[in-house]
Amino acid sequence: MVKNLKSPVTYAKMKGLMSQFSALIKERKALASDLMLKLVASPKIYRRFDSHGFLRPEEDAADELCFRGASPQKVTAADFDYLKVIGTGSFGKVLLAKQKDTKNYYAVKVLQKHPILQRKEQGHIMCERSVLLRTLNHPFLVRLHYCFQTSGKLYFVLDYASGGELFYHLQQERVFLEPRARFYAAEIASALGYLHALDIIYRDLKLENVLLDRSGHILLTDFGLCKEGVDREGRTGTFCGTPEYLPPEVLEQREYGLTTDWWALGVVLHEMVYGQPPFFSESRSRMLKNILYQPLLLSPGISKPARDLLQRLLEKDPRKRLQNLAELECHPFFSSINWTELVEKKVRPPFRPSLSGPVDLVNFDPEFTQLPVPPSLSACEGSGLTFPGFSFTSDNGPAVSTQFSRR
Ligand code: AMP
Repeated sequence: MVKNLKSPVTYAKMKGLMSQFSALIKERKALASDLMLKLVASPKIYRRFDSHGFLRPEEDAADELCFRGASPQKVTAADFDYLKVIGTGSFGKVLLAKQKDTKNYYAVKVLQKHPILQRKEQGHIMCERSVLLRTLNHPFLVRLHYCFQTSGKLYFVLDYASGGELFYHLQQERVFLEPRARFYAAEIASALGYLHALDIIYRDLKLENVLLDRSGHILLTDFGLCKEGVDREGRTGTFCGTPEYLPPEVLEQREYGLTTDWWALGVVLHEMVYGQPPFFSESRSRMLKNILYQPLLLSPGISKPARDLLQRLLEKDPRKRLQNLAELECHPFFSSINWTELVEKKVRPPFRPSLSGPVDLVNFDPEFTQLPVPPSLSACEGSGLTFPGFSFTSDNGPAVSTQFSRR
């Protein structure tokens, strides 16, 4: 059942909600544990990712040897200049880096091994996930180009999303008008549909994991990369972190499937058009209860198709929820979207991040960019194969070339 709020959402109200929401997100980012990752540790749920098959002995043997084309070539930490910190996670940092020989820019995620090794399960998952990434190739998913390790660190070399987090841009605007929200929701949905076709549940869709490239297209990140702790004790215990992206079936620790991602898309769409997640409460336990038991309340101010789509996505019963990309593509909210052109990146983004050049960090929080770049990052500490099978290289070209042009 859906009820309308009696009073309209005023600007002042929205502003208040937005600042509450910002505080909530900040708090969430600071939390060292992530419920989704805890759930990933559960073999019951993790079985879809049974990637042991990928970890064949020959891949382990090639761990520190990366191949480009026919000629074996080792890619190491020393091949990059680390320019600026652009983000942090509980095991390390994300840096803007320039590959010395190609002059291409990448986002390099550097994780400290020690805390990961302390939680054995987590290192295992990271290894499995990095291998899984080999199969991923979609315009709206961040690509992994290389992985390598030193004795103390793990490096993931990723497409650099120079437009920053969608959350940052939503904060600037407070809410997005429907055409803009529709574009982002469609690109995210397209990426989710691709993952689902590979029988992969993304499971970690949230506003902070949606980045923008320099043209304003979506890049989903953080799939397959562990950033926060998997606590075995927490697998069935109390939830840490805020639960606003999790559907009832996950909160109740029932088995869940691909439709969990459609719920999360509903949360993201709600955030974009209303400026806050559905079922929101400052109290985490209240929000949890709201997700489980409170009917969806949609304020006036959005179109009928948007309202209907939110109802279909934020349906508490996963069997009644929107089931797949094909259903979503047919929904009236997306009637103006040409899905073929969308995936070919022929649909012009409604917003282009302002950038003066490839190292313009205007879309990143100064809280990160002002952090010092650790001098030890390019040091050849020795590889120390603590994570056999970790290293990887892709033949795909870089997302950001040095021929940066402002259209
Ligand atoms: P993560 O630990 O993956 O959540 O990354 C922390 C932060 O670093 C993110 O919230 C982004 O702001 C930034 N970040 C991560 N990956 C990338 C990327 N590929 N390109 C640009 N920024 C990124």
